[in-house]
Amino acid sequence: MLKFSADRIFTGNGMAEPDTVLVTDEDGRVLDLVCKEEAGDGIRYFEGILTPGFVNAHCHLELSHLKNQVQQGTGLIAFLEQIVEKRNFSRDHILSAMKDADREMWDDGIVAVGDICNTTDTVDLKRQSRIQWTNFIEVLSFTDAKAHERIAHFIDIRDKFRTGEDLSSAASQTFRSNIAPHAPYSISPLSFRLINEATEGQVISMHNQETPAEDELYRSGTGPFLPFFERFGHQSTPFPTTGVSSIRSVLPHFNKGQDIILVHNTCTSPDDLRFADDHAAKNNLKLHYCICSNANLYIESKTPPITELMKDGRSIILGTDSLSSNYRLSITEEIRTILEHFPNLALETVLQWATLNGARALRYDHTLGSFAKGKRPGIVLLDEDLKSKRIL
Ligand SMILES: [Zn+2]
Repeated sequence: MLKFSADRIFTGNGMAEPDTVLVTDEDGRVLDLVCKEEAGDGIRYFEGILTPGFVNAHCHLELSHLKNQVQQGTGLIAFLEQIVEKRNFSRDHILSAMKDADREMWDDGIVAVGDICNTTDTVDLKRQSRIQWTNFIEVLSFTDAKAHERIAHFIDIRDKFRTGEDLSSAASQTFRSNIAPHAPYSISPLSFRLINEATEGQVISMHNQETPAEDELYRSGTGPFLPFFERFGHQSTPFPTTGVSSIRSVLPHFNKGQDIILVHNTCTSPDDLRFADDHAAKNNLKLHYCICSNANLYIESKTPPITELMKDGRSIILGTDSLSSNYRLSITEEIRTILEHFPNLALETVLQWATLNGARALRYDHTLGSFAKGKRPGIVLLDEDLKSKRIL
């Protein structure tokens, strides 16, 4: 039996009473939270805050080799153009960068990741990783004409991730793979409908409203995305012009009980949020708004409207995005940045986003996200400067 105490213990959804002791078995499975008097001998005491391990709800592990390769502050479209151009890295270099990134996340206290995948490059590493992975096989499918062919291609990648998985086994609870739409500016209407059919009852993710250009594209069929599409042979927008924002245009394609992780949301308006809440309630969807503050500062030099997003009990979760748009894959660094920009937020509010909310969004909350009895969520120590150290 192991016993831990600290200046404060964050349980997953609040601070425990002072002098609380966390009791676990040798593997870190939570047995109880008790007061010091009941805990007996052998308590390890830490200066700082003990918290359950973190959930990084949005990452692209396979872009780890692009650290320090992409110019900052260019805006999303120039960022995407740089990513498209950055090829010619050796396979060894790519694999070793991913390995370092996996270790960096583990050391930061991250226990589960929602990871975007364009290839099968990460499969072997993830199978050996101590982190739990939900793999979002990212669909890009610009036209209805090629939608069936494209979706079949991405389902093939998904099945390579699923190879060898016994879907009824305990392992399938921790290593999951689904297809997921990349963003409103890369998916045609039929492609959205096929993704909806193929992901009934699953967790999916989509980049959402990271730049004002995305809304302009749907509202009026104009704007900075058009020259970007021209590079790929599209002389005008491949998508319907709807007169409304991108999320209003594409969220109605989903109605199959999915948990949908909406990533970035830097340009999402209060009206959009009300629309999304209403659509989700009527169609049995759960929406989670994933904040990747350091990536937003890197690419678009702005922060998402967190105060609006967190109203009405919406689920907020945290992500790092990739090392192509962030200096670290660290949830601790994301928490520090959010508190710097939103100093009125309570630390425990943001810690809940980083732990229990993330675990719920990825459906890992039966084992991760809080110090509830029977869970094995990992134990992380945060010092007063919010630097993290993994305890278990
Ligand atoms: Zn991303």
